[in-house]
Amino acid sequence: MRDFAREIEERKQAGLYRTRRLVSGPQRPELTADGNRLLSFCSNDYLGLANHPANIEALRNALPETGLGGAASHLICGHHEAHHELEQRLAAFTRRSAALFFSTGYMANMGVISALAGRGDTIFSDSLNHASIIDGCILSRARIQRYPHGDVNALESMLRETSGHKLVVTDGVFSMDGDVAPLRELARLCRENDALLVVDDAHGIGVLGPEGRGSVLDAGLTEQDVPVLIGTLGKAVGTSGAFVAGSELLMDYLVQKARTYIYTTAMPPAVARATINSLDVIEQGDHLRSHLDELIARFRAGASELGFELMASHTPIQPLMVGDNESALGLSRALEARGFLVTAIRPPTVPAGEARLRVTLSAAHTMADVEKLLVALSYCRPTLSVPAAASV
Ligand code: PMP
Repeated sequence: MRDFAREIEERKQAGLYRTRRLVSGPQRPELTADGNRLLSFCSNDYLGLANHPANIEALRNALPETGLGGAASHLICGHHEAHHELEQRLAAFTRRSAALFFSTGYMANMGVISALAGRGDTIFSDSLNHASIIDGCILSRARIQRYPHGDVNALESMLRETSGHKLVVTDGVFSMDGDVAPLRELARLCRENDALLVVDDAHGIGVLGPEGRGSVLDAGLTEQDVPVLIGTLGKAVGTSGAFVAGSELLMDYLVQKARTYIYTTAMPPAVARATINSLDVIEQGDHLRSHLDELIARFRAGASELGFELMASHTPIQPLMVGDNESALGLSRALEARGFLVTAIRPPTVPAGEARLRVTLSAAHTMADVEKLLVALSYCRPTLSVPAAASV
């Protein structure tokens, strides 16, 4: 048997031990975690919709009609009309022919990738893709070729040297860096090299593009350019679940083949109703997105004045690069002592030596919240081990 206690101790020694915080009350910037009231800058609720009164009301109103549990998988008797309506709504929202609702983004990536590629095929995967994409690739048993992050030239040579079925998969917005994939170039390469492009827009849906329709439409790309679009609903949409959107044929194929769709219980249908409501809020939410953009711009200007190293990101994901694990944990603890919750992200979630604080902004924050965080950062900055890029 493996020595669990020793492995855990080793993680602790390496500054890699993971813990959870006990949250009480709803998810919002003023969060109660482990009994302490903190101002949170680490949730993915980018538009503040996880606690939106109209979404909560939609859930409450749906319950008497739908009941609570999903009761069975979609292919047995779990496919409720609320799920069906949500799929139609998601197809319209993403300007695509059809959509398929999954219980989580993790399951969507695992199911879609392993259904679309198999033994003998090759998957080209950005080196910073999310864990669920990596696991989907492994599950598919296809040959996996990781290309350097966002490097379209490297990908082009790799594609040219490969024959057989090819699939290129990328995050739309990278979850730990906040930058956007070079989607137009990727679409062109896939067209020229007869490869299928899969984009996981978990962090772009709701935030980027016209009416928050995501990074693919923001790049002016259609279903033809990006045949497989995956999105999650637990982040900016503020509810739970995920979807894939594309052609009717693709959805039909996935219903036959995607094991994480076929062999799992359908989500509570009332959640689908709340999600439909949330998509309405998102479409009418330009004011939320412009407020968010102002917060992002202020945070970036303030943090760089303080000498923090920022990433090339214009999204709500604004990591502060720290370097080693202990320093990242130290900065997170120092902020917590001042009343802020910003979690440290360490390997293997990010590459070794690139530990960071993943600051995320939300339309639920006020400008005053951002100013308060910047003041706290100005006091905590000395705990950083990396040289400052600029002086205060
Ligand atoms: N894709 C990306 C890029 C993600 O960041 C995440 C969640 N962190 C997922 C997929 C998984 O989505 P879910 O949380 O719905 O399982």
